[in-house]
Amino acid sequence: MPAPKAPVSRPEKHAWLITSPLLLVGLLLSLPVILSKDAWHVGYHLQYAPILLGVAILTVYTPLRFEIRRQAVTVHMNDAAVVLMLFYLPPLVALGVRLTAAAIWLITTRMGWHKAAFNLASFFAGMAAAVLVVVTLHPGHGDEPWTWFVLTLAIYANNLITLIGVGSVVSVVQGVLLLPVLSRMAITALTVAGVNSVVGLIMVLTLQASRWGIVLIVALVMVLVFVYRAYSQFLRQHKSLAEMYELTRQVGATHHDGTLPDVLLGRIRALMAADSATLWLPSQGRHQEVLLSARFDYPGLLDSVPTPDIFRKLALRTGATVAAGPKMGPLDLRATLHEAGVKDIIVVPLRSSGVSIGALEVAGKLGGGPTFGSDDVRLVETLAAHVGVAVENSRLVDRLQYDADHDSLTGLANRRRMLEGLGEAMSGRSAREVVAVLLFDVVALREVNDSLGHAAGDKVLVEVAHRLKALAPQGALVARVGDDEFAIELRTASAEAAVTVAGTLRAGLRDPMVIDSLTIDMDTNVGVAVYPEHGAQPEELLQRAHVATHVAKSRGIVQVFNAGLQSRAVRRVGLAADLRTALANGELEVYFQPKVALTDRRLVGVECLARWEHPVHGQVAPPDFVAVAEHTGQLARLNGVVLQEGIRRARQWADAGRPLAVAVNLSARTLGDADLPLQIAELLEEHGVPADRLILEISEDEGLLTGGRALPTLDRLRDLGVRLSVDDFGAGRSSFADLSRLPVQEVKIDRTFVQGMATSPGDLAIVRTIVDMARNFNLDVVAEGVESELTLGLLEEMHCDMGQGFLFSRPLPYERFESWLQVQTAADPAQAPAGEVRWLRAVP
Ligand code: C2E
Ligand code: CA
Ligand code: CA
Repeated sequence: MPAPKAPVSRPEKHAWLITSPLLLVGLLLSLPVILSKDAWHVGYHLQYAPILLGVAILTVYTPLRFEIRRQAVTVHMNDAAVVLMLFYLPPLVALGVRLTAAAIWLITTRMGWHKAAFNLASFFAGMAAAVLVVVTLHPGHGDEPWTWFVLTLAIYANNLITLIGVGSVVSVVQGVLLLPVLSRMAITALTVAGVNSVVGLIMVLTLQASRWGIVLIVALVMVLVFVYRAYSQFLRQHKSLAEMYELTRQVGATHHDGTLPDVLLGRIRALMAADSATLWLPSQGRHQEVLLSARFDYPGLLDSVPTPDIFRKLALRTGATVAAGPKMGPLDLRATLHEAGVKDIIVVPLRSSGVSIGALEVAGKLGGGPTFGSDDVRLVETLAAHVGVAVENSRLVDRLQYDADHDSLTGLANRRRMLEGLGEAMSGRSAREVVAVLLFDVVALREVNDSLGHAAGDKVLVEVAHRLKALAPQGALVARVGDDEFAIELRTASAEAAVTVAGTLRAGLRDPMVIDSLTIDMDTNVGVAVYPEHGAQPEELLQRAHVATHVAKSRGIVQVFNAGLQSRAVRRVGLAADLRTALANGELEVYFQPKVALTDRRLVGVECLARWEHPVHGQVAPPDFVAVAEHTGQLARLNGVVLQEGIRRARQWADAGRPLAVAVNLSARTLGDADLPLQIAELLEEHGVPADRLILEISEDEGLLTGGRALPTLDRLRDLGVRLSVDDFGAGRSSFADLSRLPVQEVKIDRTFVQGMATSPGDLAIVRTIVDMARNFNLDVVAEGVESELTLGLLEEMHCDMGQGFLFSRPLPYERFESWLQVQTAADPAQAPAGEVRWLRAVP
């Protein structure tokens, strides 16, 4: 059916445009009747007047409803009564009876004043036409066809006038075209008039034949009423069932496209023959409030509702149906309803898993007479059950879809969504842009989890998500793509621009976080990969950003991906098994790099550095195999090998009269291992090396200071007499205040600052500060990465305790270190005090 054009409604009082002419027509037609000598004659059975008035009223109040070709048709049997009146009563009495019946009906239905006046005028004009026909043409006896003709003609005259009246008033008030309306109404009205005439005439005939005919008529009417009732009930149920079926079928077919209300409300309104049907879902979580209404006089849905919200709220609050109308519901509700100008209302709460999530409301039973009853309430309740399920399903689908794309902890997009977003950005990118992935790896999350519990870890993640979202440039997609990994996708001018953004974000994330009243320093390792330079597929791009992040971990900078990183990463995969074999077969070597006291250029110790010559790949960079060992549970083995070798050599150097301290690297994670102090104590004892000749260098970046778990181990090591050194100081985030709480005796300035101090004033300032502070805190300070005389000069000038770097020597295998040592000491044997070695010149 095409959507009806929105008609131009006019105020009801415009009906007077038709009412007045109708009154005039009525008067004009009744004038000749009044003047006629037959006005009080024809008919002659004045005594029937009360009975016929009763019959007339009865017929007005019992409309019969039929369904003809899916169109509801209401039929009144008035005209049958009119036939009887016209036959038995004097014309003016008939007119009076008819108008009295109509007036009683109009008053009791409390119809609006304008409408009632129109109806009365139309009855008046119609009936006047009918009596005029009778007065003019004089019906004879009941059994004469002439009588039948006259009476039928009178009925048709009556109907024609009313029809024109109703047609005109509809045209005027509702602004629709007269002709189509008239012709549509005419067909049914005139058919009904015909049926009425025939019924009326049969009654006349029966009554003519015998007064007792009345008994037959009453019996017949009772049978007919009974049959009609049964039929209409069947019809209604059938219709409801069919509509219900259709409704549930459509509800089942609507999915997550938001068309649910469109499908539902219009149909529910039509099914209930109501003025409006409304769906109300108050806002809940991510779901916004829904308030939509289908109206009788509007083809689409409106978000304005003709009824007060108190009924909906009441239903939601009590979880029970609220129904009110002229004949039902508590009095206060009836009053509210009356005030709002709503005839009747049924509101049923919608339930989803036991809680009320909204309400379905049906209001204003259409048609002048009937109001909603308990059958209707039950029907709306059934409908509401279906709607509730439908809403739940659609929200469930929505929920599932959301879950599929989002991380439940932080509410950010997840990895899947990120890959999708990358794909979209790649295909939508302009030639002047790159699509960048910035991958943030949260440092020390594991430590937070281990020491404060997973709830605290979760809080950290939520806070990071929050900060990233706030800091990310507009239009960037922020996602959590792994346990402690966040990714940002953005379109930008170049990889360099992306690195700048990443740097800003990283700095913004760095503010300390307060979790459970503990302040946690936050840092992230950041890797960047861009399309099209570094990968053609979303998956690939993300993986490469990942590789870059891994490298960023050891360098403390925002790392952009390059092909070299990738080959390293790929190699690592196969490395784990090979490393296991190498450790088992003792293929790992330990190299030694001298540590030199700067005041007198005396060799004071060595740092032990692991070396691994892979049978296929050749030299593997220590950070690579250390990472592999760490991820595959072989770190303790690796540390064991280096410790054993370092302590063994320390024994040999002592035996040779040149005691040297040996420094061994431990990652902070190993310090969680409670067996470590015992293992070290045993090794020292086995080789007879004093504990203070062993220095453990602990890299500070892995949360050594924030995670409290390492502390007991550190204390036990200190009690053992082992010296502790903080490696790569300055690159991480610990301060001297942190150091003062730890049992450490030495800091090693990160080599990037030392390498830069000769050229960068910033680096120089950092080194100077660390050296000064270390002295204040009574810590030994070592500068590693000393590569030039210039640097050495600066370090000496600022009274740095020790230096280590290529300027003195690269890390060397034991034998070559021995030769190097020979050369150094041989150069100036005289000045070497017993057990000490002097460094005199750099090896090239
Ligand atoms: P680290 O502890 O900071 O070690 C110092 C690194 O700086 C060594 O690199 C050394 O070769 C290098 N180096 C020394 N002097 C200079 C210099 O003047 N200039 C430059 N550019 N570099 C210099 P290496 O041996 O590659 O080790 C890298 C990292 O791998 C180490 O950093 C350490 O964190 C780790 N590592 C090495 N061996 C072990 C080990 O046995 N156990 C553990 N847990 N980690 C180790
Ligand atoms: Ca070290
Ligand atoms: Ca270092």
